[in-house]
Amino acid sequence: MKGEVIVATKQFQAESKRLLELMINSIYTHREIFLRELISNASDAIDKLYYKTLSDESLSFDREKYYIKIAADKDQRLLTISDTGIGMTEAELEDNLGVIAKSGSLAFKKENELKDGYDIIGQFGVGFYSAFMVADTVTVISRPFGSDQAYRWESKGAEGYAIEPCQKDTVGTEIRLLIKQNTEDENYDEYLEEYRLKSLIKKYSDFIRYPIKMDVSVSKLKEGSDKEYEEHREEQTINSMVPIWRKNKNELTDEDYNNFYSEKHYGFDKPVKHIHIRADGAVSYTAILFIPEKIPFDYYTREYEKGLELYSNGVLIMNKCADLLPDYFSFVKGLVDSEDLSLNISRELLQHDRQLQLIAKNIRTKVKNELLDLLKNQREQYEGFYQSFGKQLKFGVYNDFGANKELLQDLLMFYSSKEKKLVTLDEYIARMAEDQKYIYYATGDSVARIEKLPQTELVAEKGYEILYLTEDVDEFALKIMSAYKEKEFKSVSSSDLGIEDQAAADKDAADAAHTELFARMKTILTDKVKDIRVSKRLKSHPVCLASDGEISIEMEKVLNAMPN
Ligand code: ADP
Ligand code: MG
Repeated sequence: MKGEVIVATKQFQAESKRLLELMINSIYTHREIFLRELISNASDAIDKLYYKTLSDESLSFDREKYYIKIAADKDQRLLTISDTGIGMTEAELEDNLGVIAKSGSLAFKKENELKDGYDIIGQFGVGFYSAFMVADTVTVISRPFGSDQAYRWESKGAEGYAIEPCQKDTVGTEIRLLIKQNTEDENYDEYLEEYRLKSLIKKYSDFIRYPIKMDVSVSKLKEGSDKEYEEHREEQTINSMVPIWRKNKNELTDEDYNNFYSEKHYGFDKPVKHIHIRADGAVSYTAILFIPEKIPFDYYTREYEKGLELYSNGVLIMNKCADLLPDYFSFVKGLVDSEDLSLNISRELLQHDRQLQLIAKNIRTKVKNELLDLLKNQREQYEGFYQSFGKQLKFGVYNDFGANKELLQDLLMFYSSKEKKLVTLDEYIARMAEDQKYIYYATGDSVARIEKLPQTELVAEKGYEILYLTEDVDEFALKIMSAYKEKEFKSVSSSDLGIEDQAAADKDAADAAHTELFARMKTILTDKVKDIRVSKRLKSHPVCLASDGEISIEMEKVLNAMPN
């Protein structure tokens, strides 16, 4: 027999064996990421070849020739991930795949003194083994650049691996996964389904810079027929490669952003605004953020999860990174991509969050400024947005003991008695009469009901504007703010309205004149009222209810309705 080789199965090193078991069972929370890891490795392998050609003038890099291919064979339960990258020598197979936590890619970066910011993804030397989460046997067939000899590495998991020479016509690596059989609890078949593989590629690896190809079934109209379809197979590139956020703003139209918004399923509406950020400061990142117009159906429920997608160098790390958005901006949709994140080994969590905090802070200010801009320049859109999410902004003012009031107060709007529409606090102040001390407000269930409130009469007669507060949170927010640009808020129901009025002078006399009547009324109303007095604010109404102290009747209602 020609070329017979004696193959000894090698043991993983003891540490590696334990690590591999750990790895397979617990490092990753989602089995499906194995594909992301193998594709990332393939992309790294092509990158390495690319760097080689950069440093060697006799070589050229023809982008067309470099790609990653995914193929599934259901009958054989075989999933293959092949690349036209740099490949591995026998020694490299041994080193990189025989020793867990050894990263050939990290070594490559160091050797070539590639600074951070280069795109090679690998660094921990564990991603490859995630293949064992879905496969019983993993076979790697690799032919290194500059050699005719290929090698096959094969392993069934913790027991060890074997390496032997083999045939391969082209440079690169092919990884074959013998997909596990379904168990009662787990479905592995799905990793052989075309639609599932396509969606995993889209989800995790859409922005890998080389084409990820797959043969897919396409149905087309039969020639000469307008009804009958026929299926045929066709090779397609599944990933979109260049992420929209890395493109130049000038190259992109509103429509591009809107398409991206719906492709990403951020919402069914059209966003009122997109924000494209490219930051190169203490931390560099790119981001595309959207401000939706309509409330997602679950927005004001517990089920709603805020957060932005987080990418590290074009690879999805987290679907909803909550730390990037404060609650008051929880309606913002979009993503952040940064090279500066320190990831933990599973690339699911971040090592520490200093960079993340910086990004979050930056995003907060940006969103605020963009909303202000919208308010100033596209009032109608802003009002649409405010109808949906204004409540959330007001909660933001109120929560955390008003810590964010400075940031948010300019974004608030309330219905105005004068303008008969939403106005900002700035607009209110600009219209204040010279002798007016306070910003007046009235609370009630609806604008119509507030208009009928007897308490508004005196203030309205003075010609002062009143803000109508119709949502539970409104008065709480204003109470926390206490003042806007040094003008205090004042409820029209409070006992001291700060309005000089003729009637006030007569009040004491009137009180005295009616002692008997009031005493009689109090015996009839016993527990229902605390006191009965002559009011100085009523004009055409005979009577009104008022509260003593800081808590208004409306607030009392809200507080009473809260669960204890
Ligand atoms: P990491 O990618 O973090 O380095 P992995 O466990 O994913 O760790 O891969 C280990 C090493 O194996 C890589 O660093 C690389 O040197 C090598 N490797 C894996 N897949 C390939 C591939 N498709 N082509 C070439 N080398 C590969
Ligand atoms: Mg890797």
